[in-house]
Amino acid sequence: AGLAVMAGLSPVFSPVAALAQDDVERQIDALLAEMTLEEKIGQLTQYSSFWDATGPAPQGGEQEEKFDQVRDGRVGSMLNVVGRDEVRAVQELAVEDSRLGIPLIFGYDVVHGHKTIFPIPLAEAASWDLDLIEQSARIAAIEAAAQGLNWTFAPMVDISRDPRWGRVMEGAGEDPYLGSRVAVARVNGFQGDDLSADDTIAATIKHLAGYGFSEGGRDYNTVDVGSVTLHNIILPPFKAAIDEANVRTAMNSFNTLNGVPATGDSYLQRDLLKGAWGFDGFIVSDWGSGREMIDHGFAASERDAAELAIEAGSDMDMESYVYRDHLADLVESGDVDIALVDDAVRRVLRVKHELGLFADPYRYVDDPAQEDILMAPAHRAIALEVAKDSIVLLKNEDSLLPLKQGEKIALIGALAADKDTPLGNWRAAGESDTAVSVVEGFEAAGVDFTYREGAAVQVGEAGFPQPVVVNTSDRSGFDAAVAAARKADKVVLVLGEDGLQSGEGRSRSDIGLPGVQQELLEAVHAANPATVLVVMSGRPLILDWADANIPAIVQAWHLGHESGHAIASVVTGAHNPGGKLPMSFPRSVGQIPVYYNYLNTGRPGPLENEVFWSHYNDLPNTPLYPFGHGLSYTGFAYSELEIVQNAGAVTVSVMVENTGEMAGEEVVQLYLRDPVASVARPVRELKGFEKVMLVPGEITQVTFELSGAELGFYDQHGNFTVEYGAFEVYVGGSSMADLGASFTRTGD
Ligand code: BGC
Repeated sequence: AGLAVMAGLSPVFSPVAALAQDDVERQIDALLAEMTLEEKIGQLTQYSSFWDATGPAPQGGEQEEKFDQVRDGRVGSMLNVVGRDEVRAVQELAVEDSRLGIPLIFGYDVVHGHKTIFPIPLAEAASWDLDLIEQSARIAAIEAAAQGLNWTFAPMVDISRDPRWGRVMEGAGEDPYLGSRVAVARVNGFQGDDLSADDTIAATIKHLAGYGFSEGGRDYNTVDVGSVTLHNIILPPFKAAIDEANVRTAMNSFNTLNGVPATGDSYLQRDLLKGAWGFDGFIVSDWGSGREMIDHGFAASERDAAELAIEAGSDMDMESYVYRDHLADLVESGDVDIALVDDAVRRVLRVKHELGLFADPYRYVDDPAQEDILMAPAHRAIALEVAKDSIVLLKNEDSLLPLKQGEKIALIGALAADKDTPLGNWRAAGESDTAVSVVEGFEAAGVDFTYREGAAVQVGEAGFPQPVVVNTSDRSGFDAAVAAARKADKVVLVLGEDGLQSGEGRSRSDIGLPGVQQELLEAVHAANPATVLVVMSGRPLILDWADANIPAIVQAWHLGHESGHAIASVVTGAHNPGGKLPMSFPRSVGQIPVYYNYLNTGRPGPLENEVFWSHYNDLPNTPLYPFGHGLSYTGFAYSELEIVQNAGAVTVSVMVENTGEMAGEEVVQLYLRDPVASVARPVRELKGFEKVMLVPGEITQVTFELSGAELGFYDQHGNFTVEYGAFEVYVGGSSMADLGASFTRTGD
């Protein structure tokens, strides 16, 4: 029936899979010519359904009203409708019942897996494995598409230097170079080679821009950054995802940036994205962010908000209704040029065409067998690979790890038995309590262990969106845990954050081990110093006491469905850890923001008898664990750093050797410093990395090419420049790499 309706409108619709770009634009022209103003505004309106993978929520009147508007052609997109039947039912309303039968595009937050849950994005970034990260996004897209979805609101590419901000779990950490590589890999995974295929979905880069720099790490808060930070740190992943992966949509943001709410920011959306960068997809607002411009004190009314948003280039309104309620009047009264509306509609229709939705609006929901792919063993296998590679060995004194055959282990901590926390926040359609726990992982790995809870992390059930209520008083399990620790050869203590303690709206000012867990750590360590701390968290936690006292520390994030298997394989040595931190771990909250690519001050270092250098009197300037840090069960030695310059190209090479007794992977990192430039440049910046696998005794050469893209930077006015003069290069296994060399870039 859908196709019949469409056939009636020929030549606007054509059931052909891939149309040439000119044909697409011509079809859009024809369709635009047919559309009423209301229908155009409909394409710019996105509603949420409360239907999700677990079934329809009670059908309230509000829901019905939304569906009536779909029938009237007043809606262009739905979010949060998940499931083949659910999507089909709503798509039918648009395609069969509306006058023009324009298909809806269905969006959802598919952030780290859809049904098969992968490590949270921050953890995946710690793998520095771009192939695996791309595969993880590819599988997420395959599963999401199998449930009727066409569009994910991911990847979040916000750079952040503040672990108090709960959403650092969704990003790739603090570095724009790593962040850009990860953004490109994830967009490529979601969008695949051919967007019109049935198992690829449009990706979204978000949040444009600066959301990760909210003051004090408090979610939704003010952002005030200068042009140098905006262009060199915040914007690069957005630009890379457009230039290198042709990302089809972008989302603006809740925050103000330098006084202007992102949704009303025409510099970001029109001048940069759609102008200088040539982005031809569409921009969706964040949830209600159009209307929020009133509270920001930027728009006087909803009508004003609608005008500011459309003029600034925010194409689709997510759940703030300002376009639905005011755009028609704005156009009719001449306050908004219809050309702006047409351009926004064209962008939305273009992406729908590219997804093949005009060719066949039911393409994502046609085949009942599609859902068989959900949680496929092959997907679980990749999820396990990514989980293992995301783990970072922070500390390992006296080779406490890996555990040795025959050792009796006390496994302690509520999180060790938790089957939900590893799924983390933003778990899409992942079902609660379905991750492999550490207890289960130890059983499968044949570890000889006794389990004791020690202490609960939270009181009662974790809810969403309510914050987790932390256990601050129940220590009743301590004695049993301490007794088990005493009897064991070694202890593995799993502590950290509940899966819902990080994420949106989960900013925290105290990011030590929550509740009574620090006390449990101290009690267990006192009973048995051979204690391994495994940390599950969605962000860097403050681990200063642990670092000073606990011999071995493993950062295990929220690793998704295969968490327990991955952790077991690392602590038993079946897998040699190779992850590296994508974000600095501070020594204390008072040190935040602390990050590796800082600028020197005019008073950079301790001079003899000099107290007035830039520092805290009570803390070193260095983080506890720097960006790029991560140990292995083997050792790696770096030598023979060489730089060759040839016709403007700079080639850096280094020898890397496995000096230990176990095969292992090392992320070889290249950092650059431009010691004198027209704006002060960071003390070092990541400009290349390569992951190598070496067997004991093996030595290999790793080579990096540096071009203008790596040597240059954005100046005070946002212009990219590459300057002459000296550059320093550092290569090694972390941002503290000390093997260095230099070269001079001259005019010839
Ligand atoms: C978040 C977005 C998300 C949207 C839809 C908002 O609250 O900031 O990142 O995509 O909700 O769920």
